[in-house]
Amino acid sequence: MKLFFTCPVCQKRVYLDSNAKTRLELSIHWGESFHLQCTNCNTPCQVTPNSVVAEKSTIQAVLATTLGGGTVGILAGPLGIGIGLLLGGLTGRYIDSNARKEVQDFNNS
Ligand SMILES: [Zn+2]
Repeated sequence: MKLFFTCPVCQKRVYLDSNAKTRLELSIHWGESFHLQCTNCNTPCQVTPNSVVAEKSTIQAVLATTLGGGTVGILAGPLGIGIGLLLGGLTGRYIDSNARKEVQDFNNS
């Protein structure tokens, strides 16, 4: 999961170096309001935890897609493809739903 806020000047996403799971956790670590410089236009922005949004990280998305695609089954050989597809699909969905839940938990906090 990655956390970002949208720069008010250039509307680009600026990512936070934080592992906070909720906005409360973020406010405990970073304060009720903090300053971050936009990585795109260098504008110093005042950010509050409420303006921070979570999204699935690329690694989680890639893992979910790869495993969901049955790579596990292909590596296991022809006999394993059926089982692998099933397992891969389940694992992919599991990672995906986990990642989605993390994002939802943060965005609803
Ligand atoms: Zn900017």
